[in-house]
Amino acid sequence: QEDIFKKVISHAKEYGYVVQSSEIYDGLSAVYDYLQNGAELKKNIREYWWQAMVQLHENIVGIDAAIFMHPTTWKASGHVDAFNDPLIDNKDSKKRYRADVLVEEHVAKIEAKIEKEVSKAAKRFGDAFDEAQFRATNARVMEYQEKADTIIKRLARSLEKEDLEDVKNLILELDIVCPVSGSKNWTDVKQFNLMFGTKLGATAESAMDLYLRPETAQGIFVNFLNVQKSGRMKIPFGIAQIGKAFRNEIVARQFIFRMREFEQMEMQFFIRPGTQKEWYETWKQTRMKWHLSLGMGAENYRFHDHEKLAHYADAAADIEFRFPFGFKELEGIHSRTDFDLGSHEKYSGKKLQYFDPELEESYVPYVIETSIGLDRMFLAILSHSLVDEELENGSTRTVLKIPAVLAPTKAAVLPLVKKDGLPEIAQEIMDELRLDFNVSYDDKDAVGRRYRRQDAAGTPFCITVDHQTLEDRTVTLRHRDTMEQRRLPIEELHGAIDREVGM
Ligand code: ATP
Repeated sequence: QEDIFKKVISHAKEYGYVVQSSEIYDGLSAVYDYLQNGAELKKNIREYWWQAMVQLHENIVGIDAAIFMHPTTWKASGHVDAFNDPLIDNKDSKKRYRADVLVEEHVAKIEAKIEKEVSKAAKRFGDAFDEAQFRATNARVMEYQEKADTIIKRLARSLEKEDLEDVKNLILELDIVCPVSGSKNWTDVKQFNLMFGTKLGATAESAMDLYLRPETAQGIFVNFLNVQKSGRMKIPFGIAQIGKAFRNEIVARQFIFRMREFEQMEMQFFIRPGTQKEWYETWKQTRMKWHLSLGMGAENYRFHDHEKLAHYADAAADIEFRFPFGFKELEGIHSRTDFDLGSHEKYSGKKLQYFDPELEESYVPYVIETSIGLDRMFLAILSHSLVDEELENGSTRTVLKIPAVLAPTKAAVLPLVKKDGLPEIAQEIMDELRLDFNVSYDDKDAVGRRYRRQDAAGTPFCITVDHQTLEDRTVTLRHRDTMEQRRLPIEELHGAIDREVGM
């Protein structure tokens, strides 16, 4: 699994998708740059989402709010007080951990230990079964598991209650059961706010402390009335937004899964109080359908319903995707009640209410939110698409099976040789197709190698111009996934490609 992930990361670099930021200066941790193919894929995901959410819903509109917001926004949203991660440092290894992640590492180690113990015993008893010994081993494993479970349960409660002293003591206890770092020399647990701060203003006295937004949602909430009034929107309606968000993540070792600067695609759906249960269910299903429409396999998605809820939510679920390192959150669907609008009313002193003409009354609407990380979606697609295929002739090929609708380049035009007028016809085809599709041109190396190169870059079609083209104006259209080739007139290329890559 680790190896697959490593392969994805190096493939992303080799084929112009993603690299670490400021690489020539040894990089900036958890910050990434999208290169020529990455920028196209990202743009296509963005458009695919926007089209599904805004264009296809009569009652959803999109906005583009600023990254900087008035600092009181983040008091009202709860981020100043509650957007914290509990941190603990190991004094010997000088390693810093998020307390909850450290516990996860403990759990994994404990599970591995139990498994080892059990399989060792199974092997031993395979030769000569000894019931007394079997029972003894069983009891020992059970006792160990119970001890670990008890501590972990207490830890989960302390983390939830933010009882930091308790958290530390329990980590020490857990270390005795199963040390993670080999050391018991921990600092106290401290809360660490995840927002990046900056200053607005020229002089120290007049400067105002700002935050880089940690989520795009608040730009929607503060504009709720502006959009509702100017768009004459009737509840239920939604406001969507795509934009950068910033979090000072502590544990950032998973490529573009967890970044310090990333992009979110969020939609806030404003509804009548009391209808949140139905709308929450509707949006869960609608969003899952969107994911499934890309054809990356229903078995790779699952819902995870939250029991522990954030301060603003009365229900929450994640759509998890099977990443190379296991099922992890890709998107969140949250029933946010009237927490955000209500809180902005309180802090701003401005009414954020809607007059419902059917009920003939005003109220603060309830909100269902769908929130997906663009970069995480990118990683889901990239890691799922990268496959090494064994071919019939015994050779292998590396192919990036990005859904055609999202592929950075839709077709590559390949003249078989660089003479006899073939490049001119290829150029003609390029000029015709580029009005509607992103196309590229490649005339280097043997055509077989060019096919492999396009396979690995994720291009769904190759168009080969050869000597027969000079006679009958037909070309070969090769399909990336099936490697099937068929001959068709140049005039039919546009339609053939469009059928597969159209949104
Ligand atoms: P996690 O538990 O993974 O930290 P979260 O629950 O804090 O995520 P939300 O605040 O619900 O995430 O954000 C919504 C979405 O934004 C997530 O589902 C994820 O796709 C994306 N996201 C959040 N944090 C990051 C990050 N640091 N890097 C990339 N994407 C992120």
